[in-house]
Amino acid sequence: MDANECYAVADEKTYKNALEYRRRQEFLWDSMDADLFADALIEMISRKKDDVDVLRFGESGDLRHQADLDRVDRVAERLHEHGILTFIYTASEWMDFSDVEHITVTASNDGVPGDQDYNVVDEKADIPDDGFYCPISDPESEKMCGECLECMTKDGPDEIYATLQDR
Ligand code: SF4
Repeated sequence: MDANECYAVADEKTYKNALEYRRRQEFLWDSMDADLFADALIEMISRKKDDVDVLRFGESGDLRHQADLDRVDRVAERLHEHGILTFIYTASEWMDFSDVEHITVTASNDGVPGDQDYNVVDEKADIPDDGFYCPISDPESEKMCGECLECMTKDGPDEIYATLQDR
């Protein structure tokens, strides 16, 4: 994917601390195996005042290589034992997702064989009658992500549509 089309790169350009923060996260990620990372995450989550039900891993499915994907799947397996779902949006079509068991994979481009496809269209009229319209981009919906969860669970709709208009 061209960097100009990447969701994560856009935020790194917009928010001046985003890239530095991501580099620190990358260092931590590379310093631990999946189980130690999961242990640390579970401990951190246990100290939060609010319950954590779902974890989005990486802003734009920031997977560098297959080993990253395997490790995220192991972390997701551990989190699942604590009732936490893990999902990623990803456009990394060069990855092999066939062995993923514990992550909900939401594909942001056509090349990814995800659990579901997330399609961005220009306007509502472009959404098929049986297409699921993501509530967060539907100006008529008052639902927020936390009440929806449709693109975060493996049994959500196969095709999800969003529009670029602001709410
Ligand atoms: S509103 Fe639902 S479909 Fe849209 S991003 Fe949030 S969980 Fe996914």
